[in-house]
Amino acid sequence: MSEQNTVPEKHPYLSVIDEKADMLDALGDYLWDNAETAFEEFKSAAYMVDLLKKEGFEVEENLTGIPTAFSGRFGHGKPVIGILGEFDALSGLQQEAEAFEKKPIPGKVCGQGCGHNLFGMASVGAAISIKKYLEESKSEGTVIFFGTPAEEGGSGKSFMARDGAFDELDAAVTWHPAATTNVKTNLSLANYQVVYRFDGVPSHAGGKPEAGRSALDALELMNVGVQFLREHMTDHCRVHYAITDTGGYSPNVVQGHAEAIYLIRAPKNQEVKELYERVNKIAAGAALMTETKESHEFIKACSNTVINNVLVHVMYSRMEEIPVPVPTEEDLEFAKKLSKTGLAGMPGVDPENPLHPEVRPLAPSDQQHGSTDVGDVSWVCPTVQLNAATWAVGTAAHSWQAVSQGKRPWAHKMARYAAKIMAATAVELIKYPEVLEDAKKEHLENVAPTGYEPPIPADVKPKAISKL
Ligand SMILES: [Zn+2]
Ligand SMILES: [Zn+2]
Repeated sequence: MSEQNTVPEKHPYLSVIDEKADMLDALGDYLWDNAETAFEEFKSAAYMVDLLKKEGFEVEENLTGIPTAFSGRFGHGKPVIGILGEFDALSGLQQEAEAFEKKPIPGKVCGQGCGHNLFGMASVGAAISIKKYLEESKSEGTVIFFGTPAEEGGSGKSFMARDGAFDELDAAVTWHPAATTNVKTNLSLANYQVVYRFDGVPSHAGGKPEAGRSALDALELMNVGVQFLREHMTDHCRVHYAITDTGGYSPNVVQGHAEAIYLIRAPKNQEVKELYERVNKIAAGAALMTETKESHEFIKACSNTVINNVLVHVMYSRMEEIPVPVPTEEDLEFAKKLSKTGLAGMPGVDPENPLHPEVRPLAPSDQQHGSTDVGDVSWVCPTVQLNAATWAVGTAAHSWQAVSQGKRPWAHKMARYAAKIMAATAVELIKYPEVLEDAKKEHLENVAPTGYEPPIPADVKPKAISKL
């Protein structure tokens, strides 16, 4: 065993992650090869369910009624620690592995642009390692691996949280592939995803325009109204949209239908709700102006993240104890070459030094402008996440370069490192109940006075993003 894989004596249960490296790497590659988008991750979920069963976990499928959500449980009694594993992919990012140029794979429609193949792999590794600790120490405690689908565009965890999947947890531990290695202390935005539809009256655009009422005009006016709204939103709010139906491609028809998917974001759940209500007024105004009918469909939402400082410090201390992998010459050569494919222009990128796996010091909380459904779990129980540098510096998530790096030996190595940090963090909480109590106390203060109020209305059902 090389020095970089040495597991400190304090954490003997972590060695199972190296012993099962081939199986874990194969899982990561399977999820990459069979990339599937939100709520349609059937092959990926089946593979992981099978693997968890073989590893001795008690598996529950169809969790909260979502066909691709599942859990694998081991142990008994308290504490109950959840490990979150994402595995969904992104449409339009099909890409050959280890390529140095944008090279879509013919016939594929999506790719692992956010590294969720590594995400699922590492989280399974962590759960296996915690199981090993529970078996060998004969400690009381339960680990539950959660297969959480549809992080991208579906907020699977937010539906699962709304329907109680995480209620029994004392804490949740998770991670994300990245270009740096650090405990996550930044705050993500809450969001709502809503489809706005307009129905008008089609007519001959040249011969009888006065008889028509254009749904496309209504949609355009709605979008313009939202541009004017931007000046009057609070800081850090974001509104984006994709026009998904223009009413056809014949300009000589007054368009009878039009549709856009809106993503509305704000730092807090309450703020996003208020912003959504203002966007609704703009949509209604656009319909009034154009004498069309407007309707909207709530697709999904997710909460802002709640940082738990007790858990942040528990995880950071484990990162100080467990050595981060050292890249080989081959790892560096690949990353150097990839750096020259457009990453070099990104701030802080030195193509001669493209991998930065070293653990970064703890940073104060900062507002980040993306969102994650981990937010909902962080409202239900104390939750902590790390980033691990699976990618070359400058790699943007949701890029072809991220997909290209997803099966690299370096990516596997860093995913196994993430597995070790997650496992050791969870084991610390099992070993020291007083630390977990502190984390829970902080959590209660953080979510006071209301506690978790699910942002997704009770009657909204999860919907595959390919079928909106
Ligand atoms: Zn993503
Ligand atoms: Zn992601």
